Amino acid sequence: MGDDLNAEGAGWNRWIAVASAVVLAAAAGYAFAWQEVIGAAVLALLAAAAGAFAARPPRKLPEPAAEGSASIDDVHPSITLDSLENAAVLVDRNFGILAMNAEAVDAFGAHALGEDIRIAIRHPAVIETVTTAMRQNRDSIREIEGIGRHSTVFRLRAGPAGDARLLLSFADVSPARLAERMRADFVANASHELRTPLATLVGFIETLQGPAANDPAARARFLDVMANEAARMTRLVDDLMSLSRIELDKNIRPREIIDLAPVFENVATTSAVALEADKRQLVMNLDPELPQVIADKDQVLQVLHNLMTNAIKYGRTGTPITVTAERAKALQGEVVRIAIADVGDGIAAEHIPRLTERFYRVDTGRSRRLGGTGLGLAIAKHIVERHRGTLEITSEQGVGTAISFTLPASVSQI
Ligand code: ADP
Repeated sequence: MGDDLNAEGAGWNRWIAVASAVVLAAAAGYAFAWQEVIGAAVLALLAAAAGAFAARPPRKLPEPAAEGSASIDDVHPSITLDSLENAAVLVDRNFGILAMNAEAVDAFGAHALGEDIRIAIRHPAVIETVTTAMRQNRDSIREIEGIGRHSTVFRLRAGPAGDARLLLSFADVSPARLAERMRADFVANASHELRTPLATLVGFIETLQGPAANDPAARARFLDVMANEAARMTRLVDDLMSLSRIELDKNIRPREIIDLAPVFENVATTSAVALEADKRQLVMNLDPELPQVIADKDQVLQVLHNLMTNAIKYGRTGTPITVTAERAKALQGEVVRIAIADVGDGIAAEHIPRLTERFYRVDTGRSRRLGGTGLGLAIAKHIVERHRGTLEITSEQGVGTAISFTLPASVSQI
């Protein structure tokens, strides 16, 4: 994604926590009206998102500049368009463009200077906003999508600027709108992921209460399916809670100095059963001189667990999984690079940049069948970012996938 929601971190965290609360509430009351519980919560969350982007209070024009840009000081000494943060355009009573700042030239092109604004920016909403401000001699504000050379979402404010002139300020609100859409998508995705197993559970409960009430064989079969669906919901809630906790701590750098050897032993032990069931062999390629790292041990274990689970899920039965750990130099200094590589179908190049987005999967059906939540790589990326490391995915279709990440080496070791 343009998963660059760093500035929105606290907001995300609140959302994830609320979404998780919705799951728990829904799970507790699934036998009655769970759809309503989720529906109401989703509406409340969307309403909260809308509120977060309420209009800013009116901005004051800058104080008169001692030495302003020549073109505009000639027109109105109190305004220096270049000192304005947003794209700004000054028009006269006949809608002619008198001056533009650099941002406006970038958005609408230098040719617009001297043109009629209604021709330079041919958009009905712009024309209406400017005309209203001109006619009523007061501020007129409107959000307009898809104008300018970069098809930006602008919040246009047209207001009187003395001598029958109008100052038009175009604030770029595209990032806020994108963040808003991503939040709405996240809630919709989380709700959908929960709705599916809940629907199955509700269906089986009704069947067990009715047609299958006296059928012990069917009951045993249905209870198995129900247990699987409940486990799936638990995994999803666990992952949502993990994301929430990681978001909470994301600005606090880990301080512990840890040895990686016991971490790798732990990974080998916890994945032994799944590896054996799939006739897989774990190959450990660890540098014996590996320095200690500055890291949160539980979180490193979680990244390794998520990557191992994926290598087992998406790699080919009977093929080895290789874990490599070596020291390396990165921009931020000495690091330890850890990679987990599998032999499998691999991933088409166009999917790779999006794999760390929440709920992004190459094949949703396959991921669900294999017990995936679509959050494993998003969690891994957030943890690695908290450690100021980098996560890299390389894959070749028909060959396999390697996912590596770095952790800062403890300086005293080097
Ligand atoms: P999931 O729970 O679906 O596995 P993840 O966030 O862990 O979610 O991974 C996102 C998607 O990335 C997966 O659905 C899968 O399509 C792809 N993927 C992840 N790891 C691998 C891998 N080792 N080999 C092939 N595809 C992978």
